Amino acid sequence: MATTIWIDGQYYDKANAKISVFDHGLLYGDGVFEGIRVYNRRIFRRDKHLDRLYASAKGAWLEIPLARNAMARLMEEAVAKSGFNDGYIRLIVTRGIGDLGLDPRKCPKASVICIVDEIALYPSDRYEKGLTAISAATPIHHRESVSPRIKSLNYLAHILAKVEGIAAGVDEVIMLDPAGFVAEASGENIFVVTNGIVKTPPVYSGILLGVTREAVLELAREATYAVEEVPLSRYDLYTADEVFLTGTAAEVIGMTKLDARTIGTGVPGPVTKELAKRFKALATRGD
Ligand code: PMP
Repeated sequence: MATTIWIDGQYYDKANAKISVFDHGLLYGDGVFEGIRVYNRRIFRRDKHLDRLYASAKGAWLEIPLARNAMARLMEEAVAKSGFNDGYIRLIVTRGIGDLGLDPRKCPKASVICIVDEIALYPSDRYEKGLTAISAATPIHHRESVSPRIKSLNYLAHILAKVEGIAAGVDEVIMLDPAGFVAEASGENIFVVTNGIVKTPPVYSGILLGVTREAVLELAREATYAVEEVPLSRYDLYTADEVFLTGTAAEVIGMTKLDARTIGTGVPGPVTKELAKRFKALATRGD
């Protein structure tokens, strides 16, 4: 089992996997990406991730030089080559090599990178105890600026929020949108459970439309919970019975402290636990 890296038609080992200093992905964060899980050698919701990748590229006026089915084949091949049963795929499309100006027309061909590796986002005890968090002062991008729906290579706002969390000694951060509504965590979507109703911010609020978020919404409906996609304020988080986050890398994880307030009973609640269990089952089944 080994980290496997493909760049524009060729496999490289870690030491030799390099891109140009004139790549606009590096110079300007000009590009898009996906993070995707592999469970039991099967790519979880591959087509949903491809949908989002190609939509992100369209939103960023970026033409991906690989057809969708070729991209799907590449992922399958790289996973097989890696030998990982459970792993993580990072697909990256950069604007490619240009000059030192911004003009994307100077970049004749986008670059495609596919990395297969492993990932562990939080220490394993957090899945039992829950995460601590603060709400960050740094908001997500305005939806009419760089749309948060585009999974772009520019994560500086989320990194600055993460730095605030690190400085405060907590595990995660909750980011608000520019109007002050709850948006998402640094790399996860957010859910609350109040009086048995599972709630999450709506898509039009400008959040990244998480593949895990969608799967968990399906699972919650299947488990006959009432589900609402509604704007949430921090008050809704402070007073919720449960809060949990969803993401490809994080999967489903409870949040038990926010801005020094204990959420619910202070440990991950029954709905969080049930949905985490259902998600594990779904992921290992590979639907
Ligand atoms: N929001 C942000 C900002 C993210 O980076 C991610 C991770 N891709 C998510 C939400 C969760 O999305 P997904 O479930 O597709 O991983």
